[in-house]
Amino acid sequence: MGFSEAPRAEDLSKCVHCGLCLNACPTYRELRVEMDSPRGRIYQMVQVSKGAEITDSYREHIDLCLACRGCETACPSGVQYGRLVEAARAEIEQKVKRPLGQRLLRSFVFETLLPSRGWLKIAGAGLAVYQKSGLQRLTRASGILKLMGGLGQAEALAPPMETPFFYRHMGRVFAAQGERKYRVALLAGCIANISFARLNEATVRVLQANHCEVTVHGEQTCCGALHVHSGLKDPARKLARKNIDALLDGGYDAIITNAGGCGSTLKEYGELLEHDERYAERAQRFSALMKDVNEFLASIELNTRMGEVRASVTYQDSCHLAHGQKIRSAPRELLRKIPGLTVREMRLSDLCCGSAGIYNVLHTDMSLQLLEKKMQNVNASGAERIATANPGCMLQLRAGVEKWGSGQRVSHVVEILDEAYRAAN
Ligand code: SF4
Ligand code: SF4
Repeated sequence: MGFSEAPRAEDLSKCVHCGLCLNACPTYRELRVEMDSPRGRIYQMVQVSKGAEITDSYREHIDLCLACRGCETACPSGVQYGRLVEAARAEIEQKVKRPLGQRLLRSFVFETLLPSRGWLKIAGAGLAVYQKSGLQRLTRASGILKLMGGLGQAEALAPPMETPFFYRHMGRVFAAQGERKYRVALLAGCIANISFARLNEATVRVLQANHCEVTVHGEQTCCGALHVHSGLKDPARKLARKNIDALLDGGYDAIITNAGGCGSTLKEYGELLEHDERYAERAQRFSALMKDVNEFLASIELNTRMGEVRASVTYQDSCHLAHGQKIRSAPRELLRKIPGLTVREMRLSDLCCGSAGIYNVLHTDMSLQLLEKKMQNVNASGAERIATANPGCMLQLRAGVEKWGSGQRVSHVVEILDEAYRAAN
């Protein structure tokens, strides 16, 4: 590696401490603690950059940040907070040794499980048996989860497994419907292959219906977003190189993701690999080809041969799509083109729902606090359905509907488009 991962002085110095970001920050809104606001966190990063020790308290305030980047949208001075918090976490990883147990667990999850198709299949199969055999129902009914504290709450948020897994489509090329106008590659994610297999299939169908030949390249891997958010930049770089090698030279018009969180990192591969002589330029080109599926569909002439989807829907912005990639209108435009569908805006649709990668597992209390508020706004919109553009948000919102909702159905935007296309046939 040979270079410091620490936040850069020129990025830190952009903050003029005006405080205009405070109200956009979910953790500050909940706690009203300056050190849990963007401005307070930047202040602490500056102190560390001047030689202050990395204390447990510093780590806690940085860890409690959702990396939702709501503050970036609110900031008039152009502070790139996402870059700062990722750098702060990477610096902590570089300088502070975690206890052995934590190191082993993190190494297994981030370096073995997530990048490995084999391990994910095993984990997925085990969870599928737990969830579908009745064992999960029994465990939940027994009340034992309540005694397990955070672990019990995390169990409630574990994604349901969707068999057959999407892995069966790896290496396949799906023909465009009608004339082929575009050749695209789909990045299918890591956990999404076992827990959002139907969403990935719907994404392929919607792209096919829009004259795309869709390649699901067999050599693709996890995008590394969870790694970057956890400060593990080197393992993320390994994954980035693998995806670049697999997809960059395929001659695709676009590389597509249906996950707002992944898209944000994939579009920043250029930055992630800027010190890598062999990959810096290739990473820039890769990022330029990356498109969120909403962004791509809104940029082409959309096939409007759709049947009706009679329902009202409210759109929950995925933080990394709205604040990270600045994509807000594309998903709303697509929803508005679906016949029979009424779009109802909710209050604070771009305030984080508390999902934030694995945040809901690591900081379950804060995550649930945010989710409860989110559900109040969803309920007030009166919509029967919730649409969003990131699998993590879908899981979180489903848990929210179960706890505080009124039976709203949670879908990805492309799943509703898929329904409309199917209704036309
Ligand atoms: S991050 Fe931006 S909005 Fe927040 S205090 Fe600094 S300059 Fe102001
Ligand atoms: S990224 Fe989100 S949680 Fe973190 S400081 Fe910014 S607004 Fe607050």
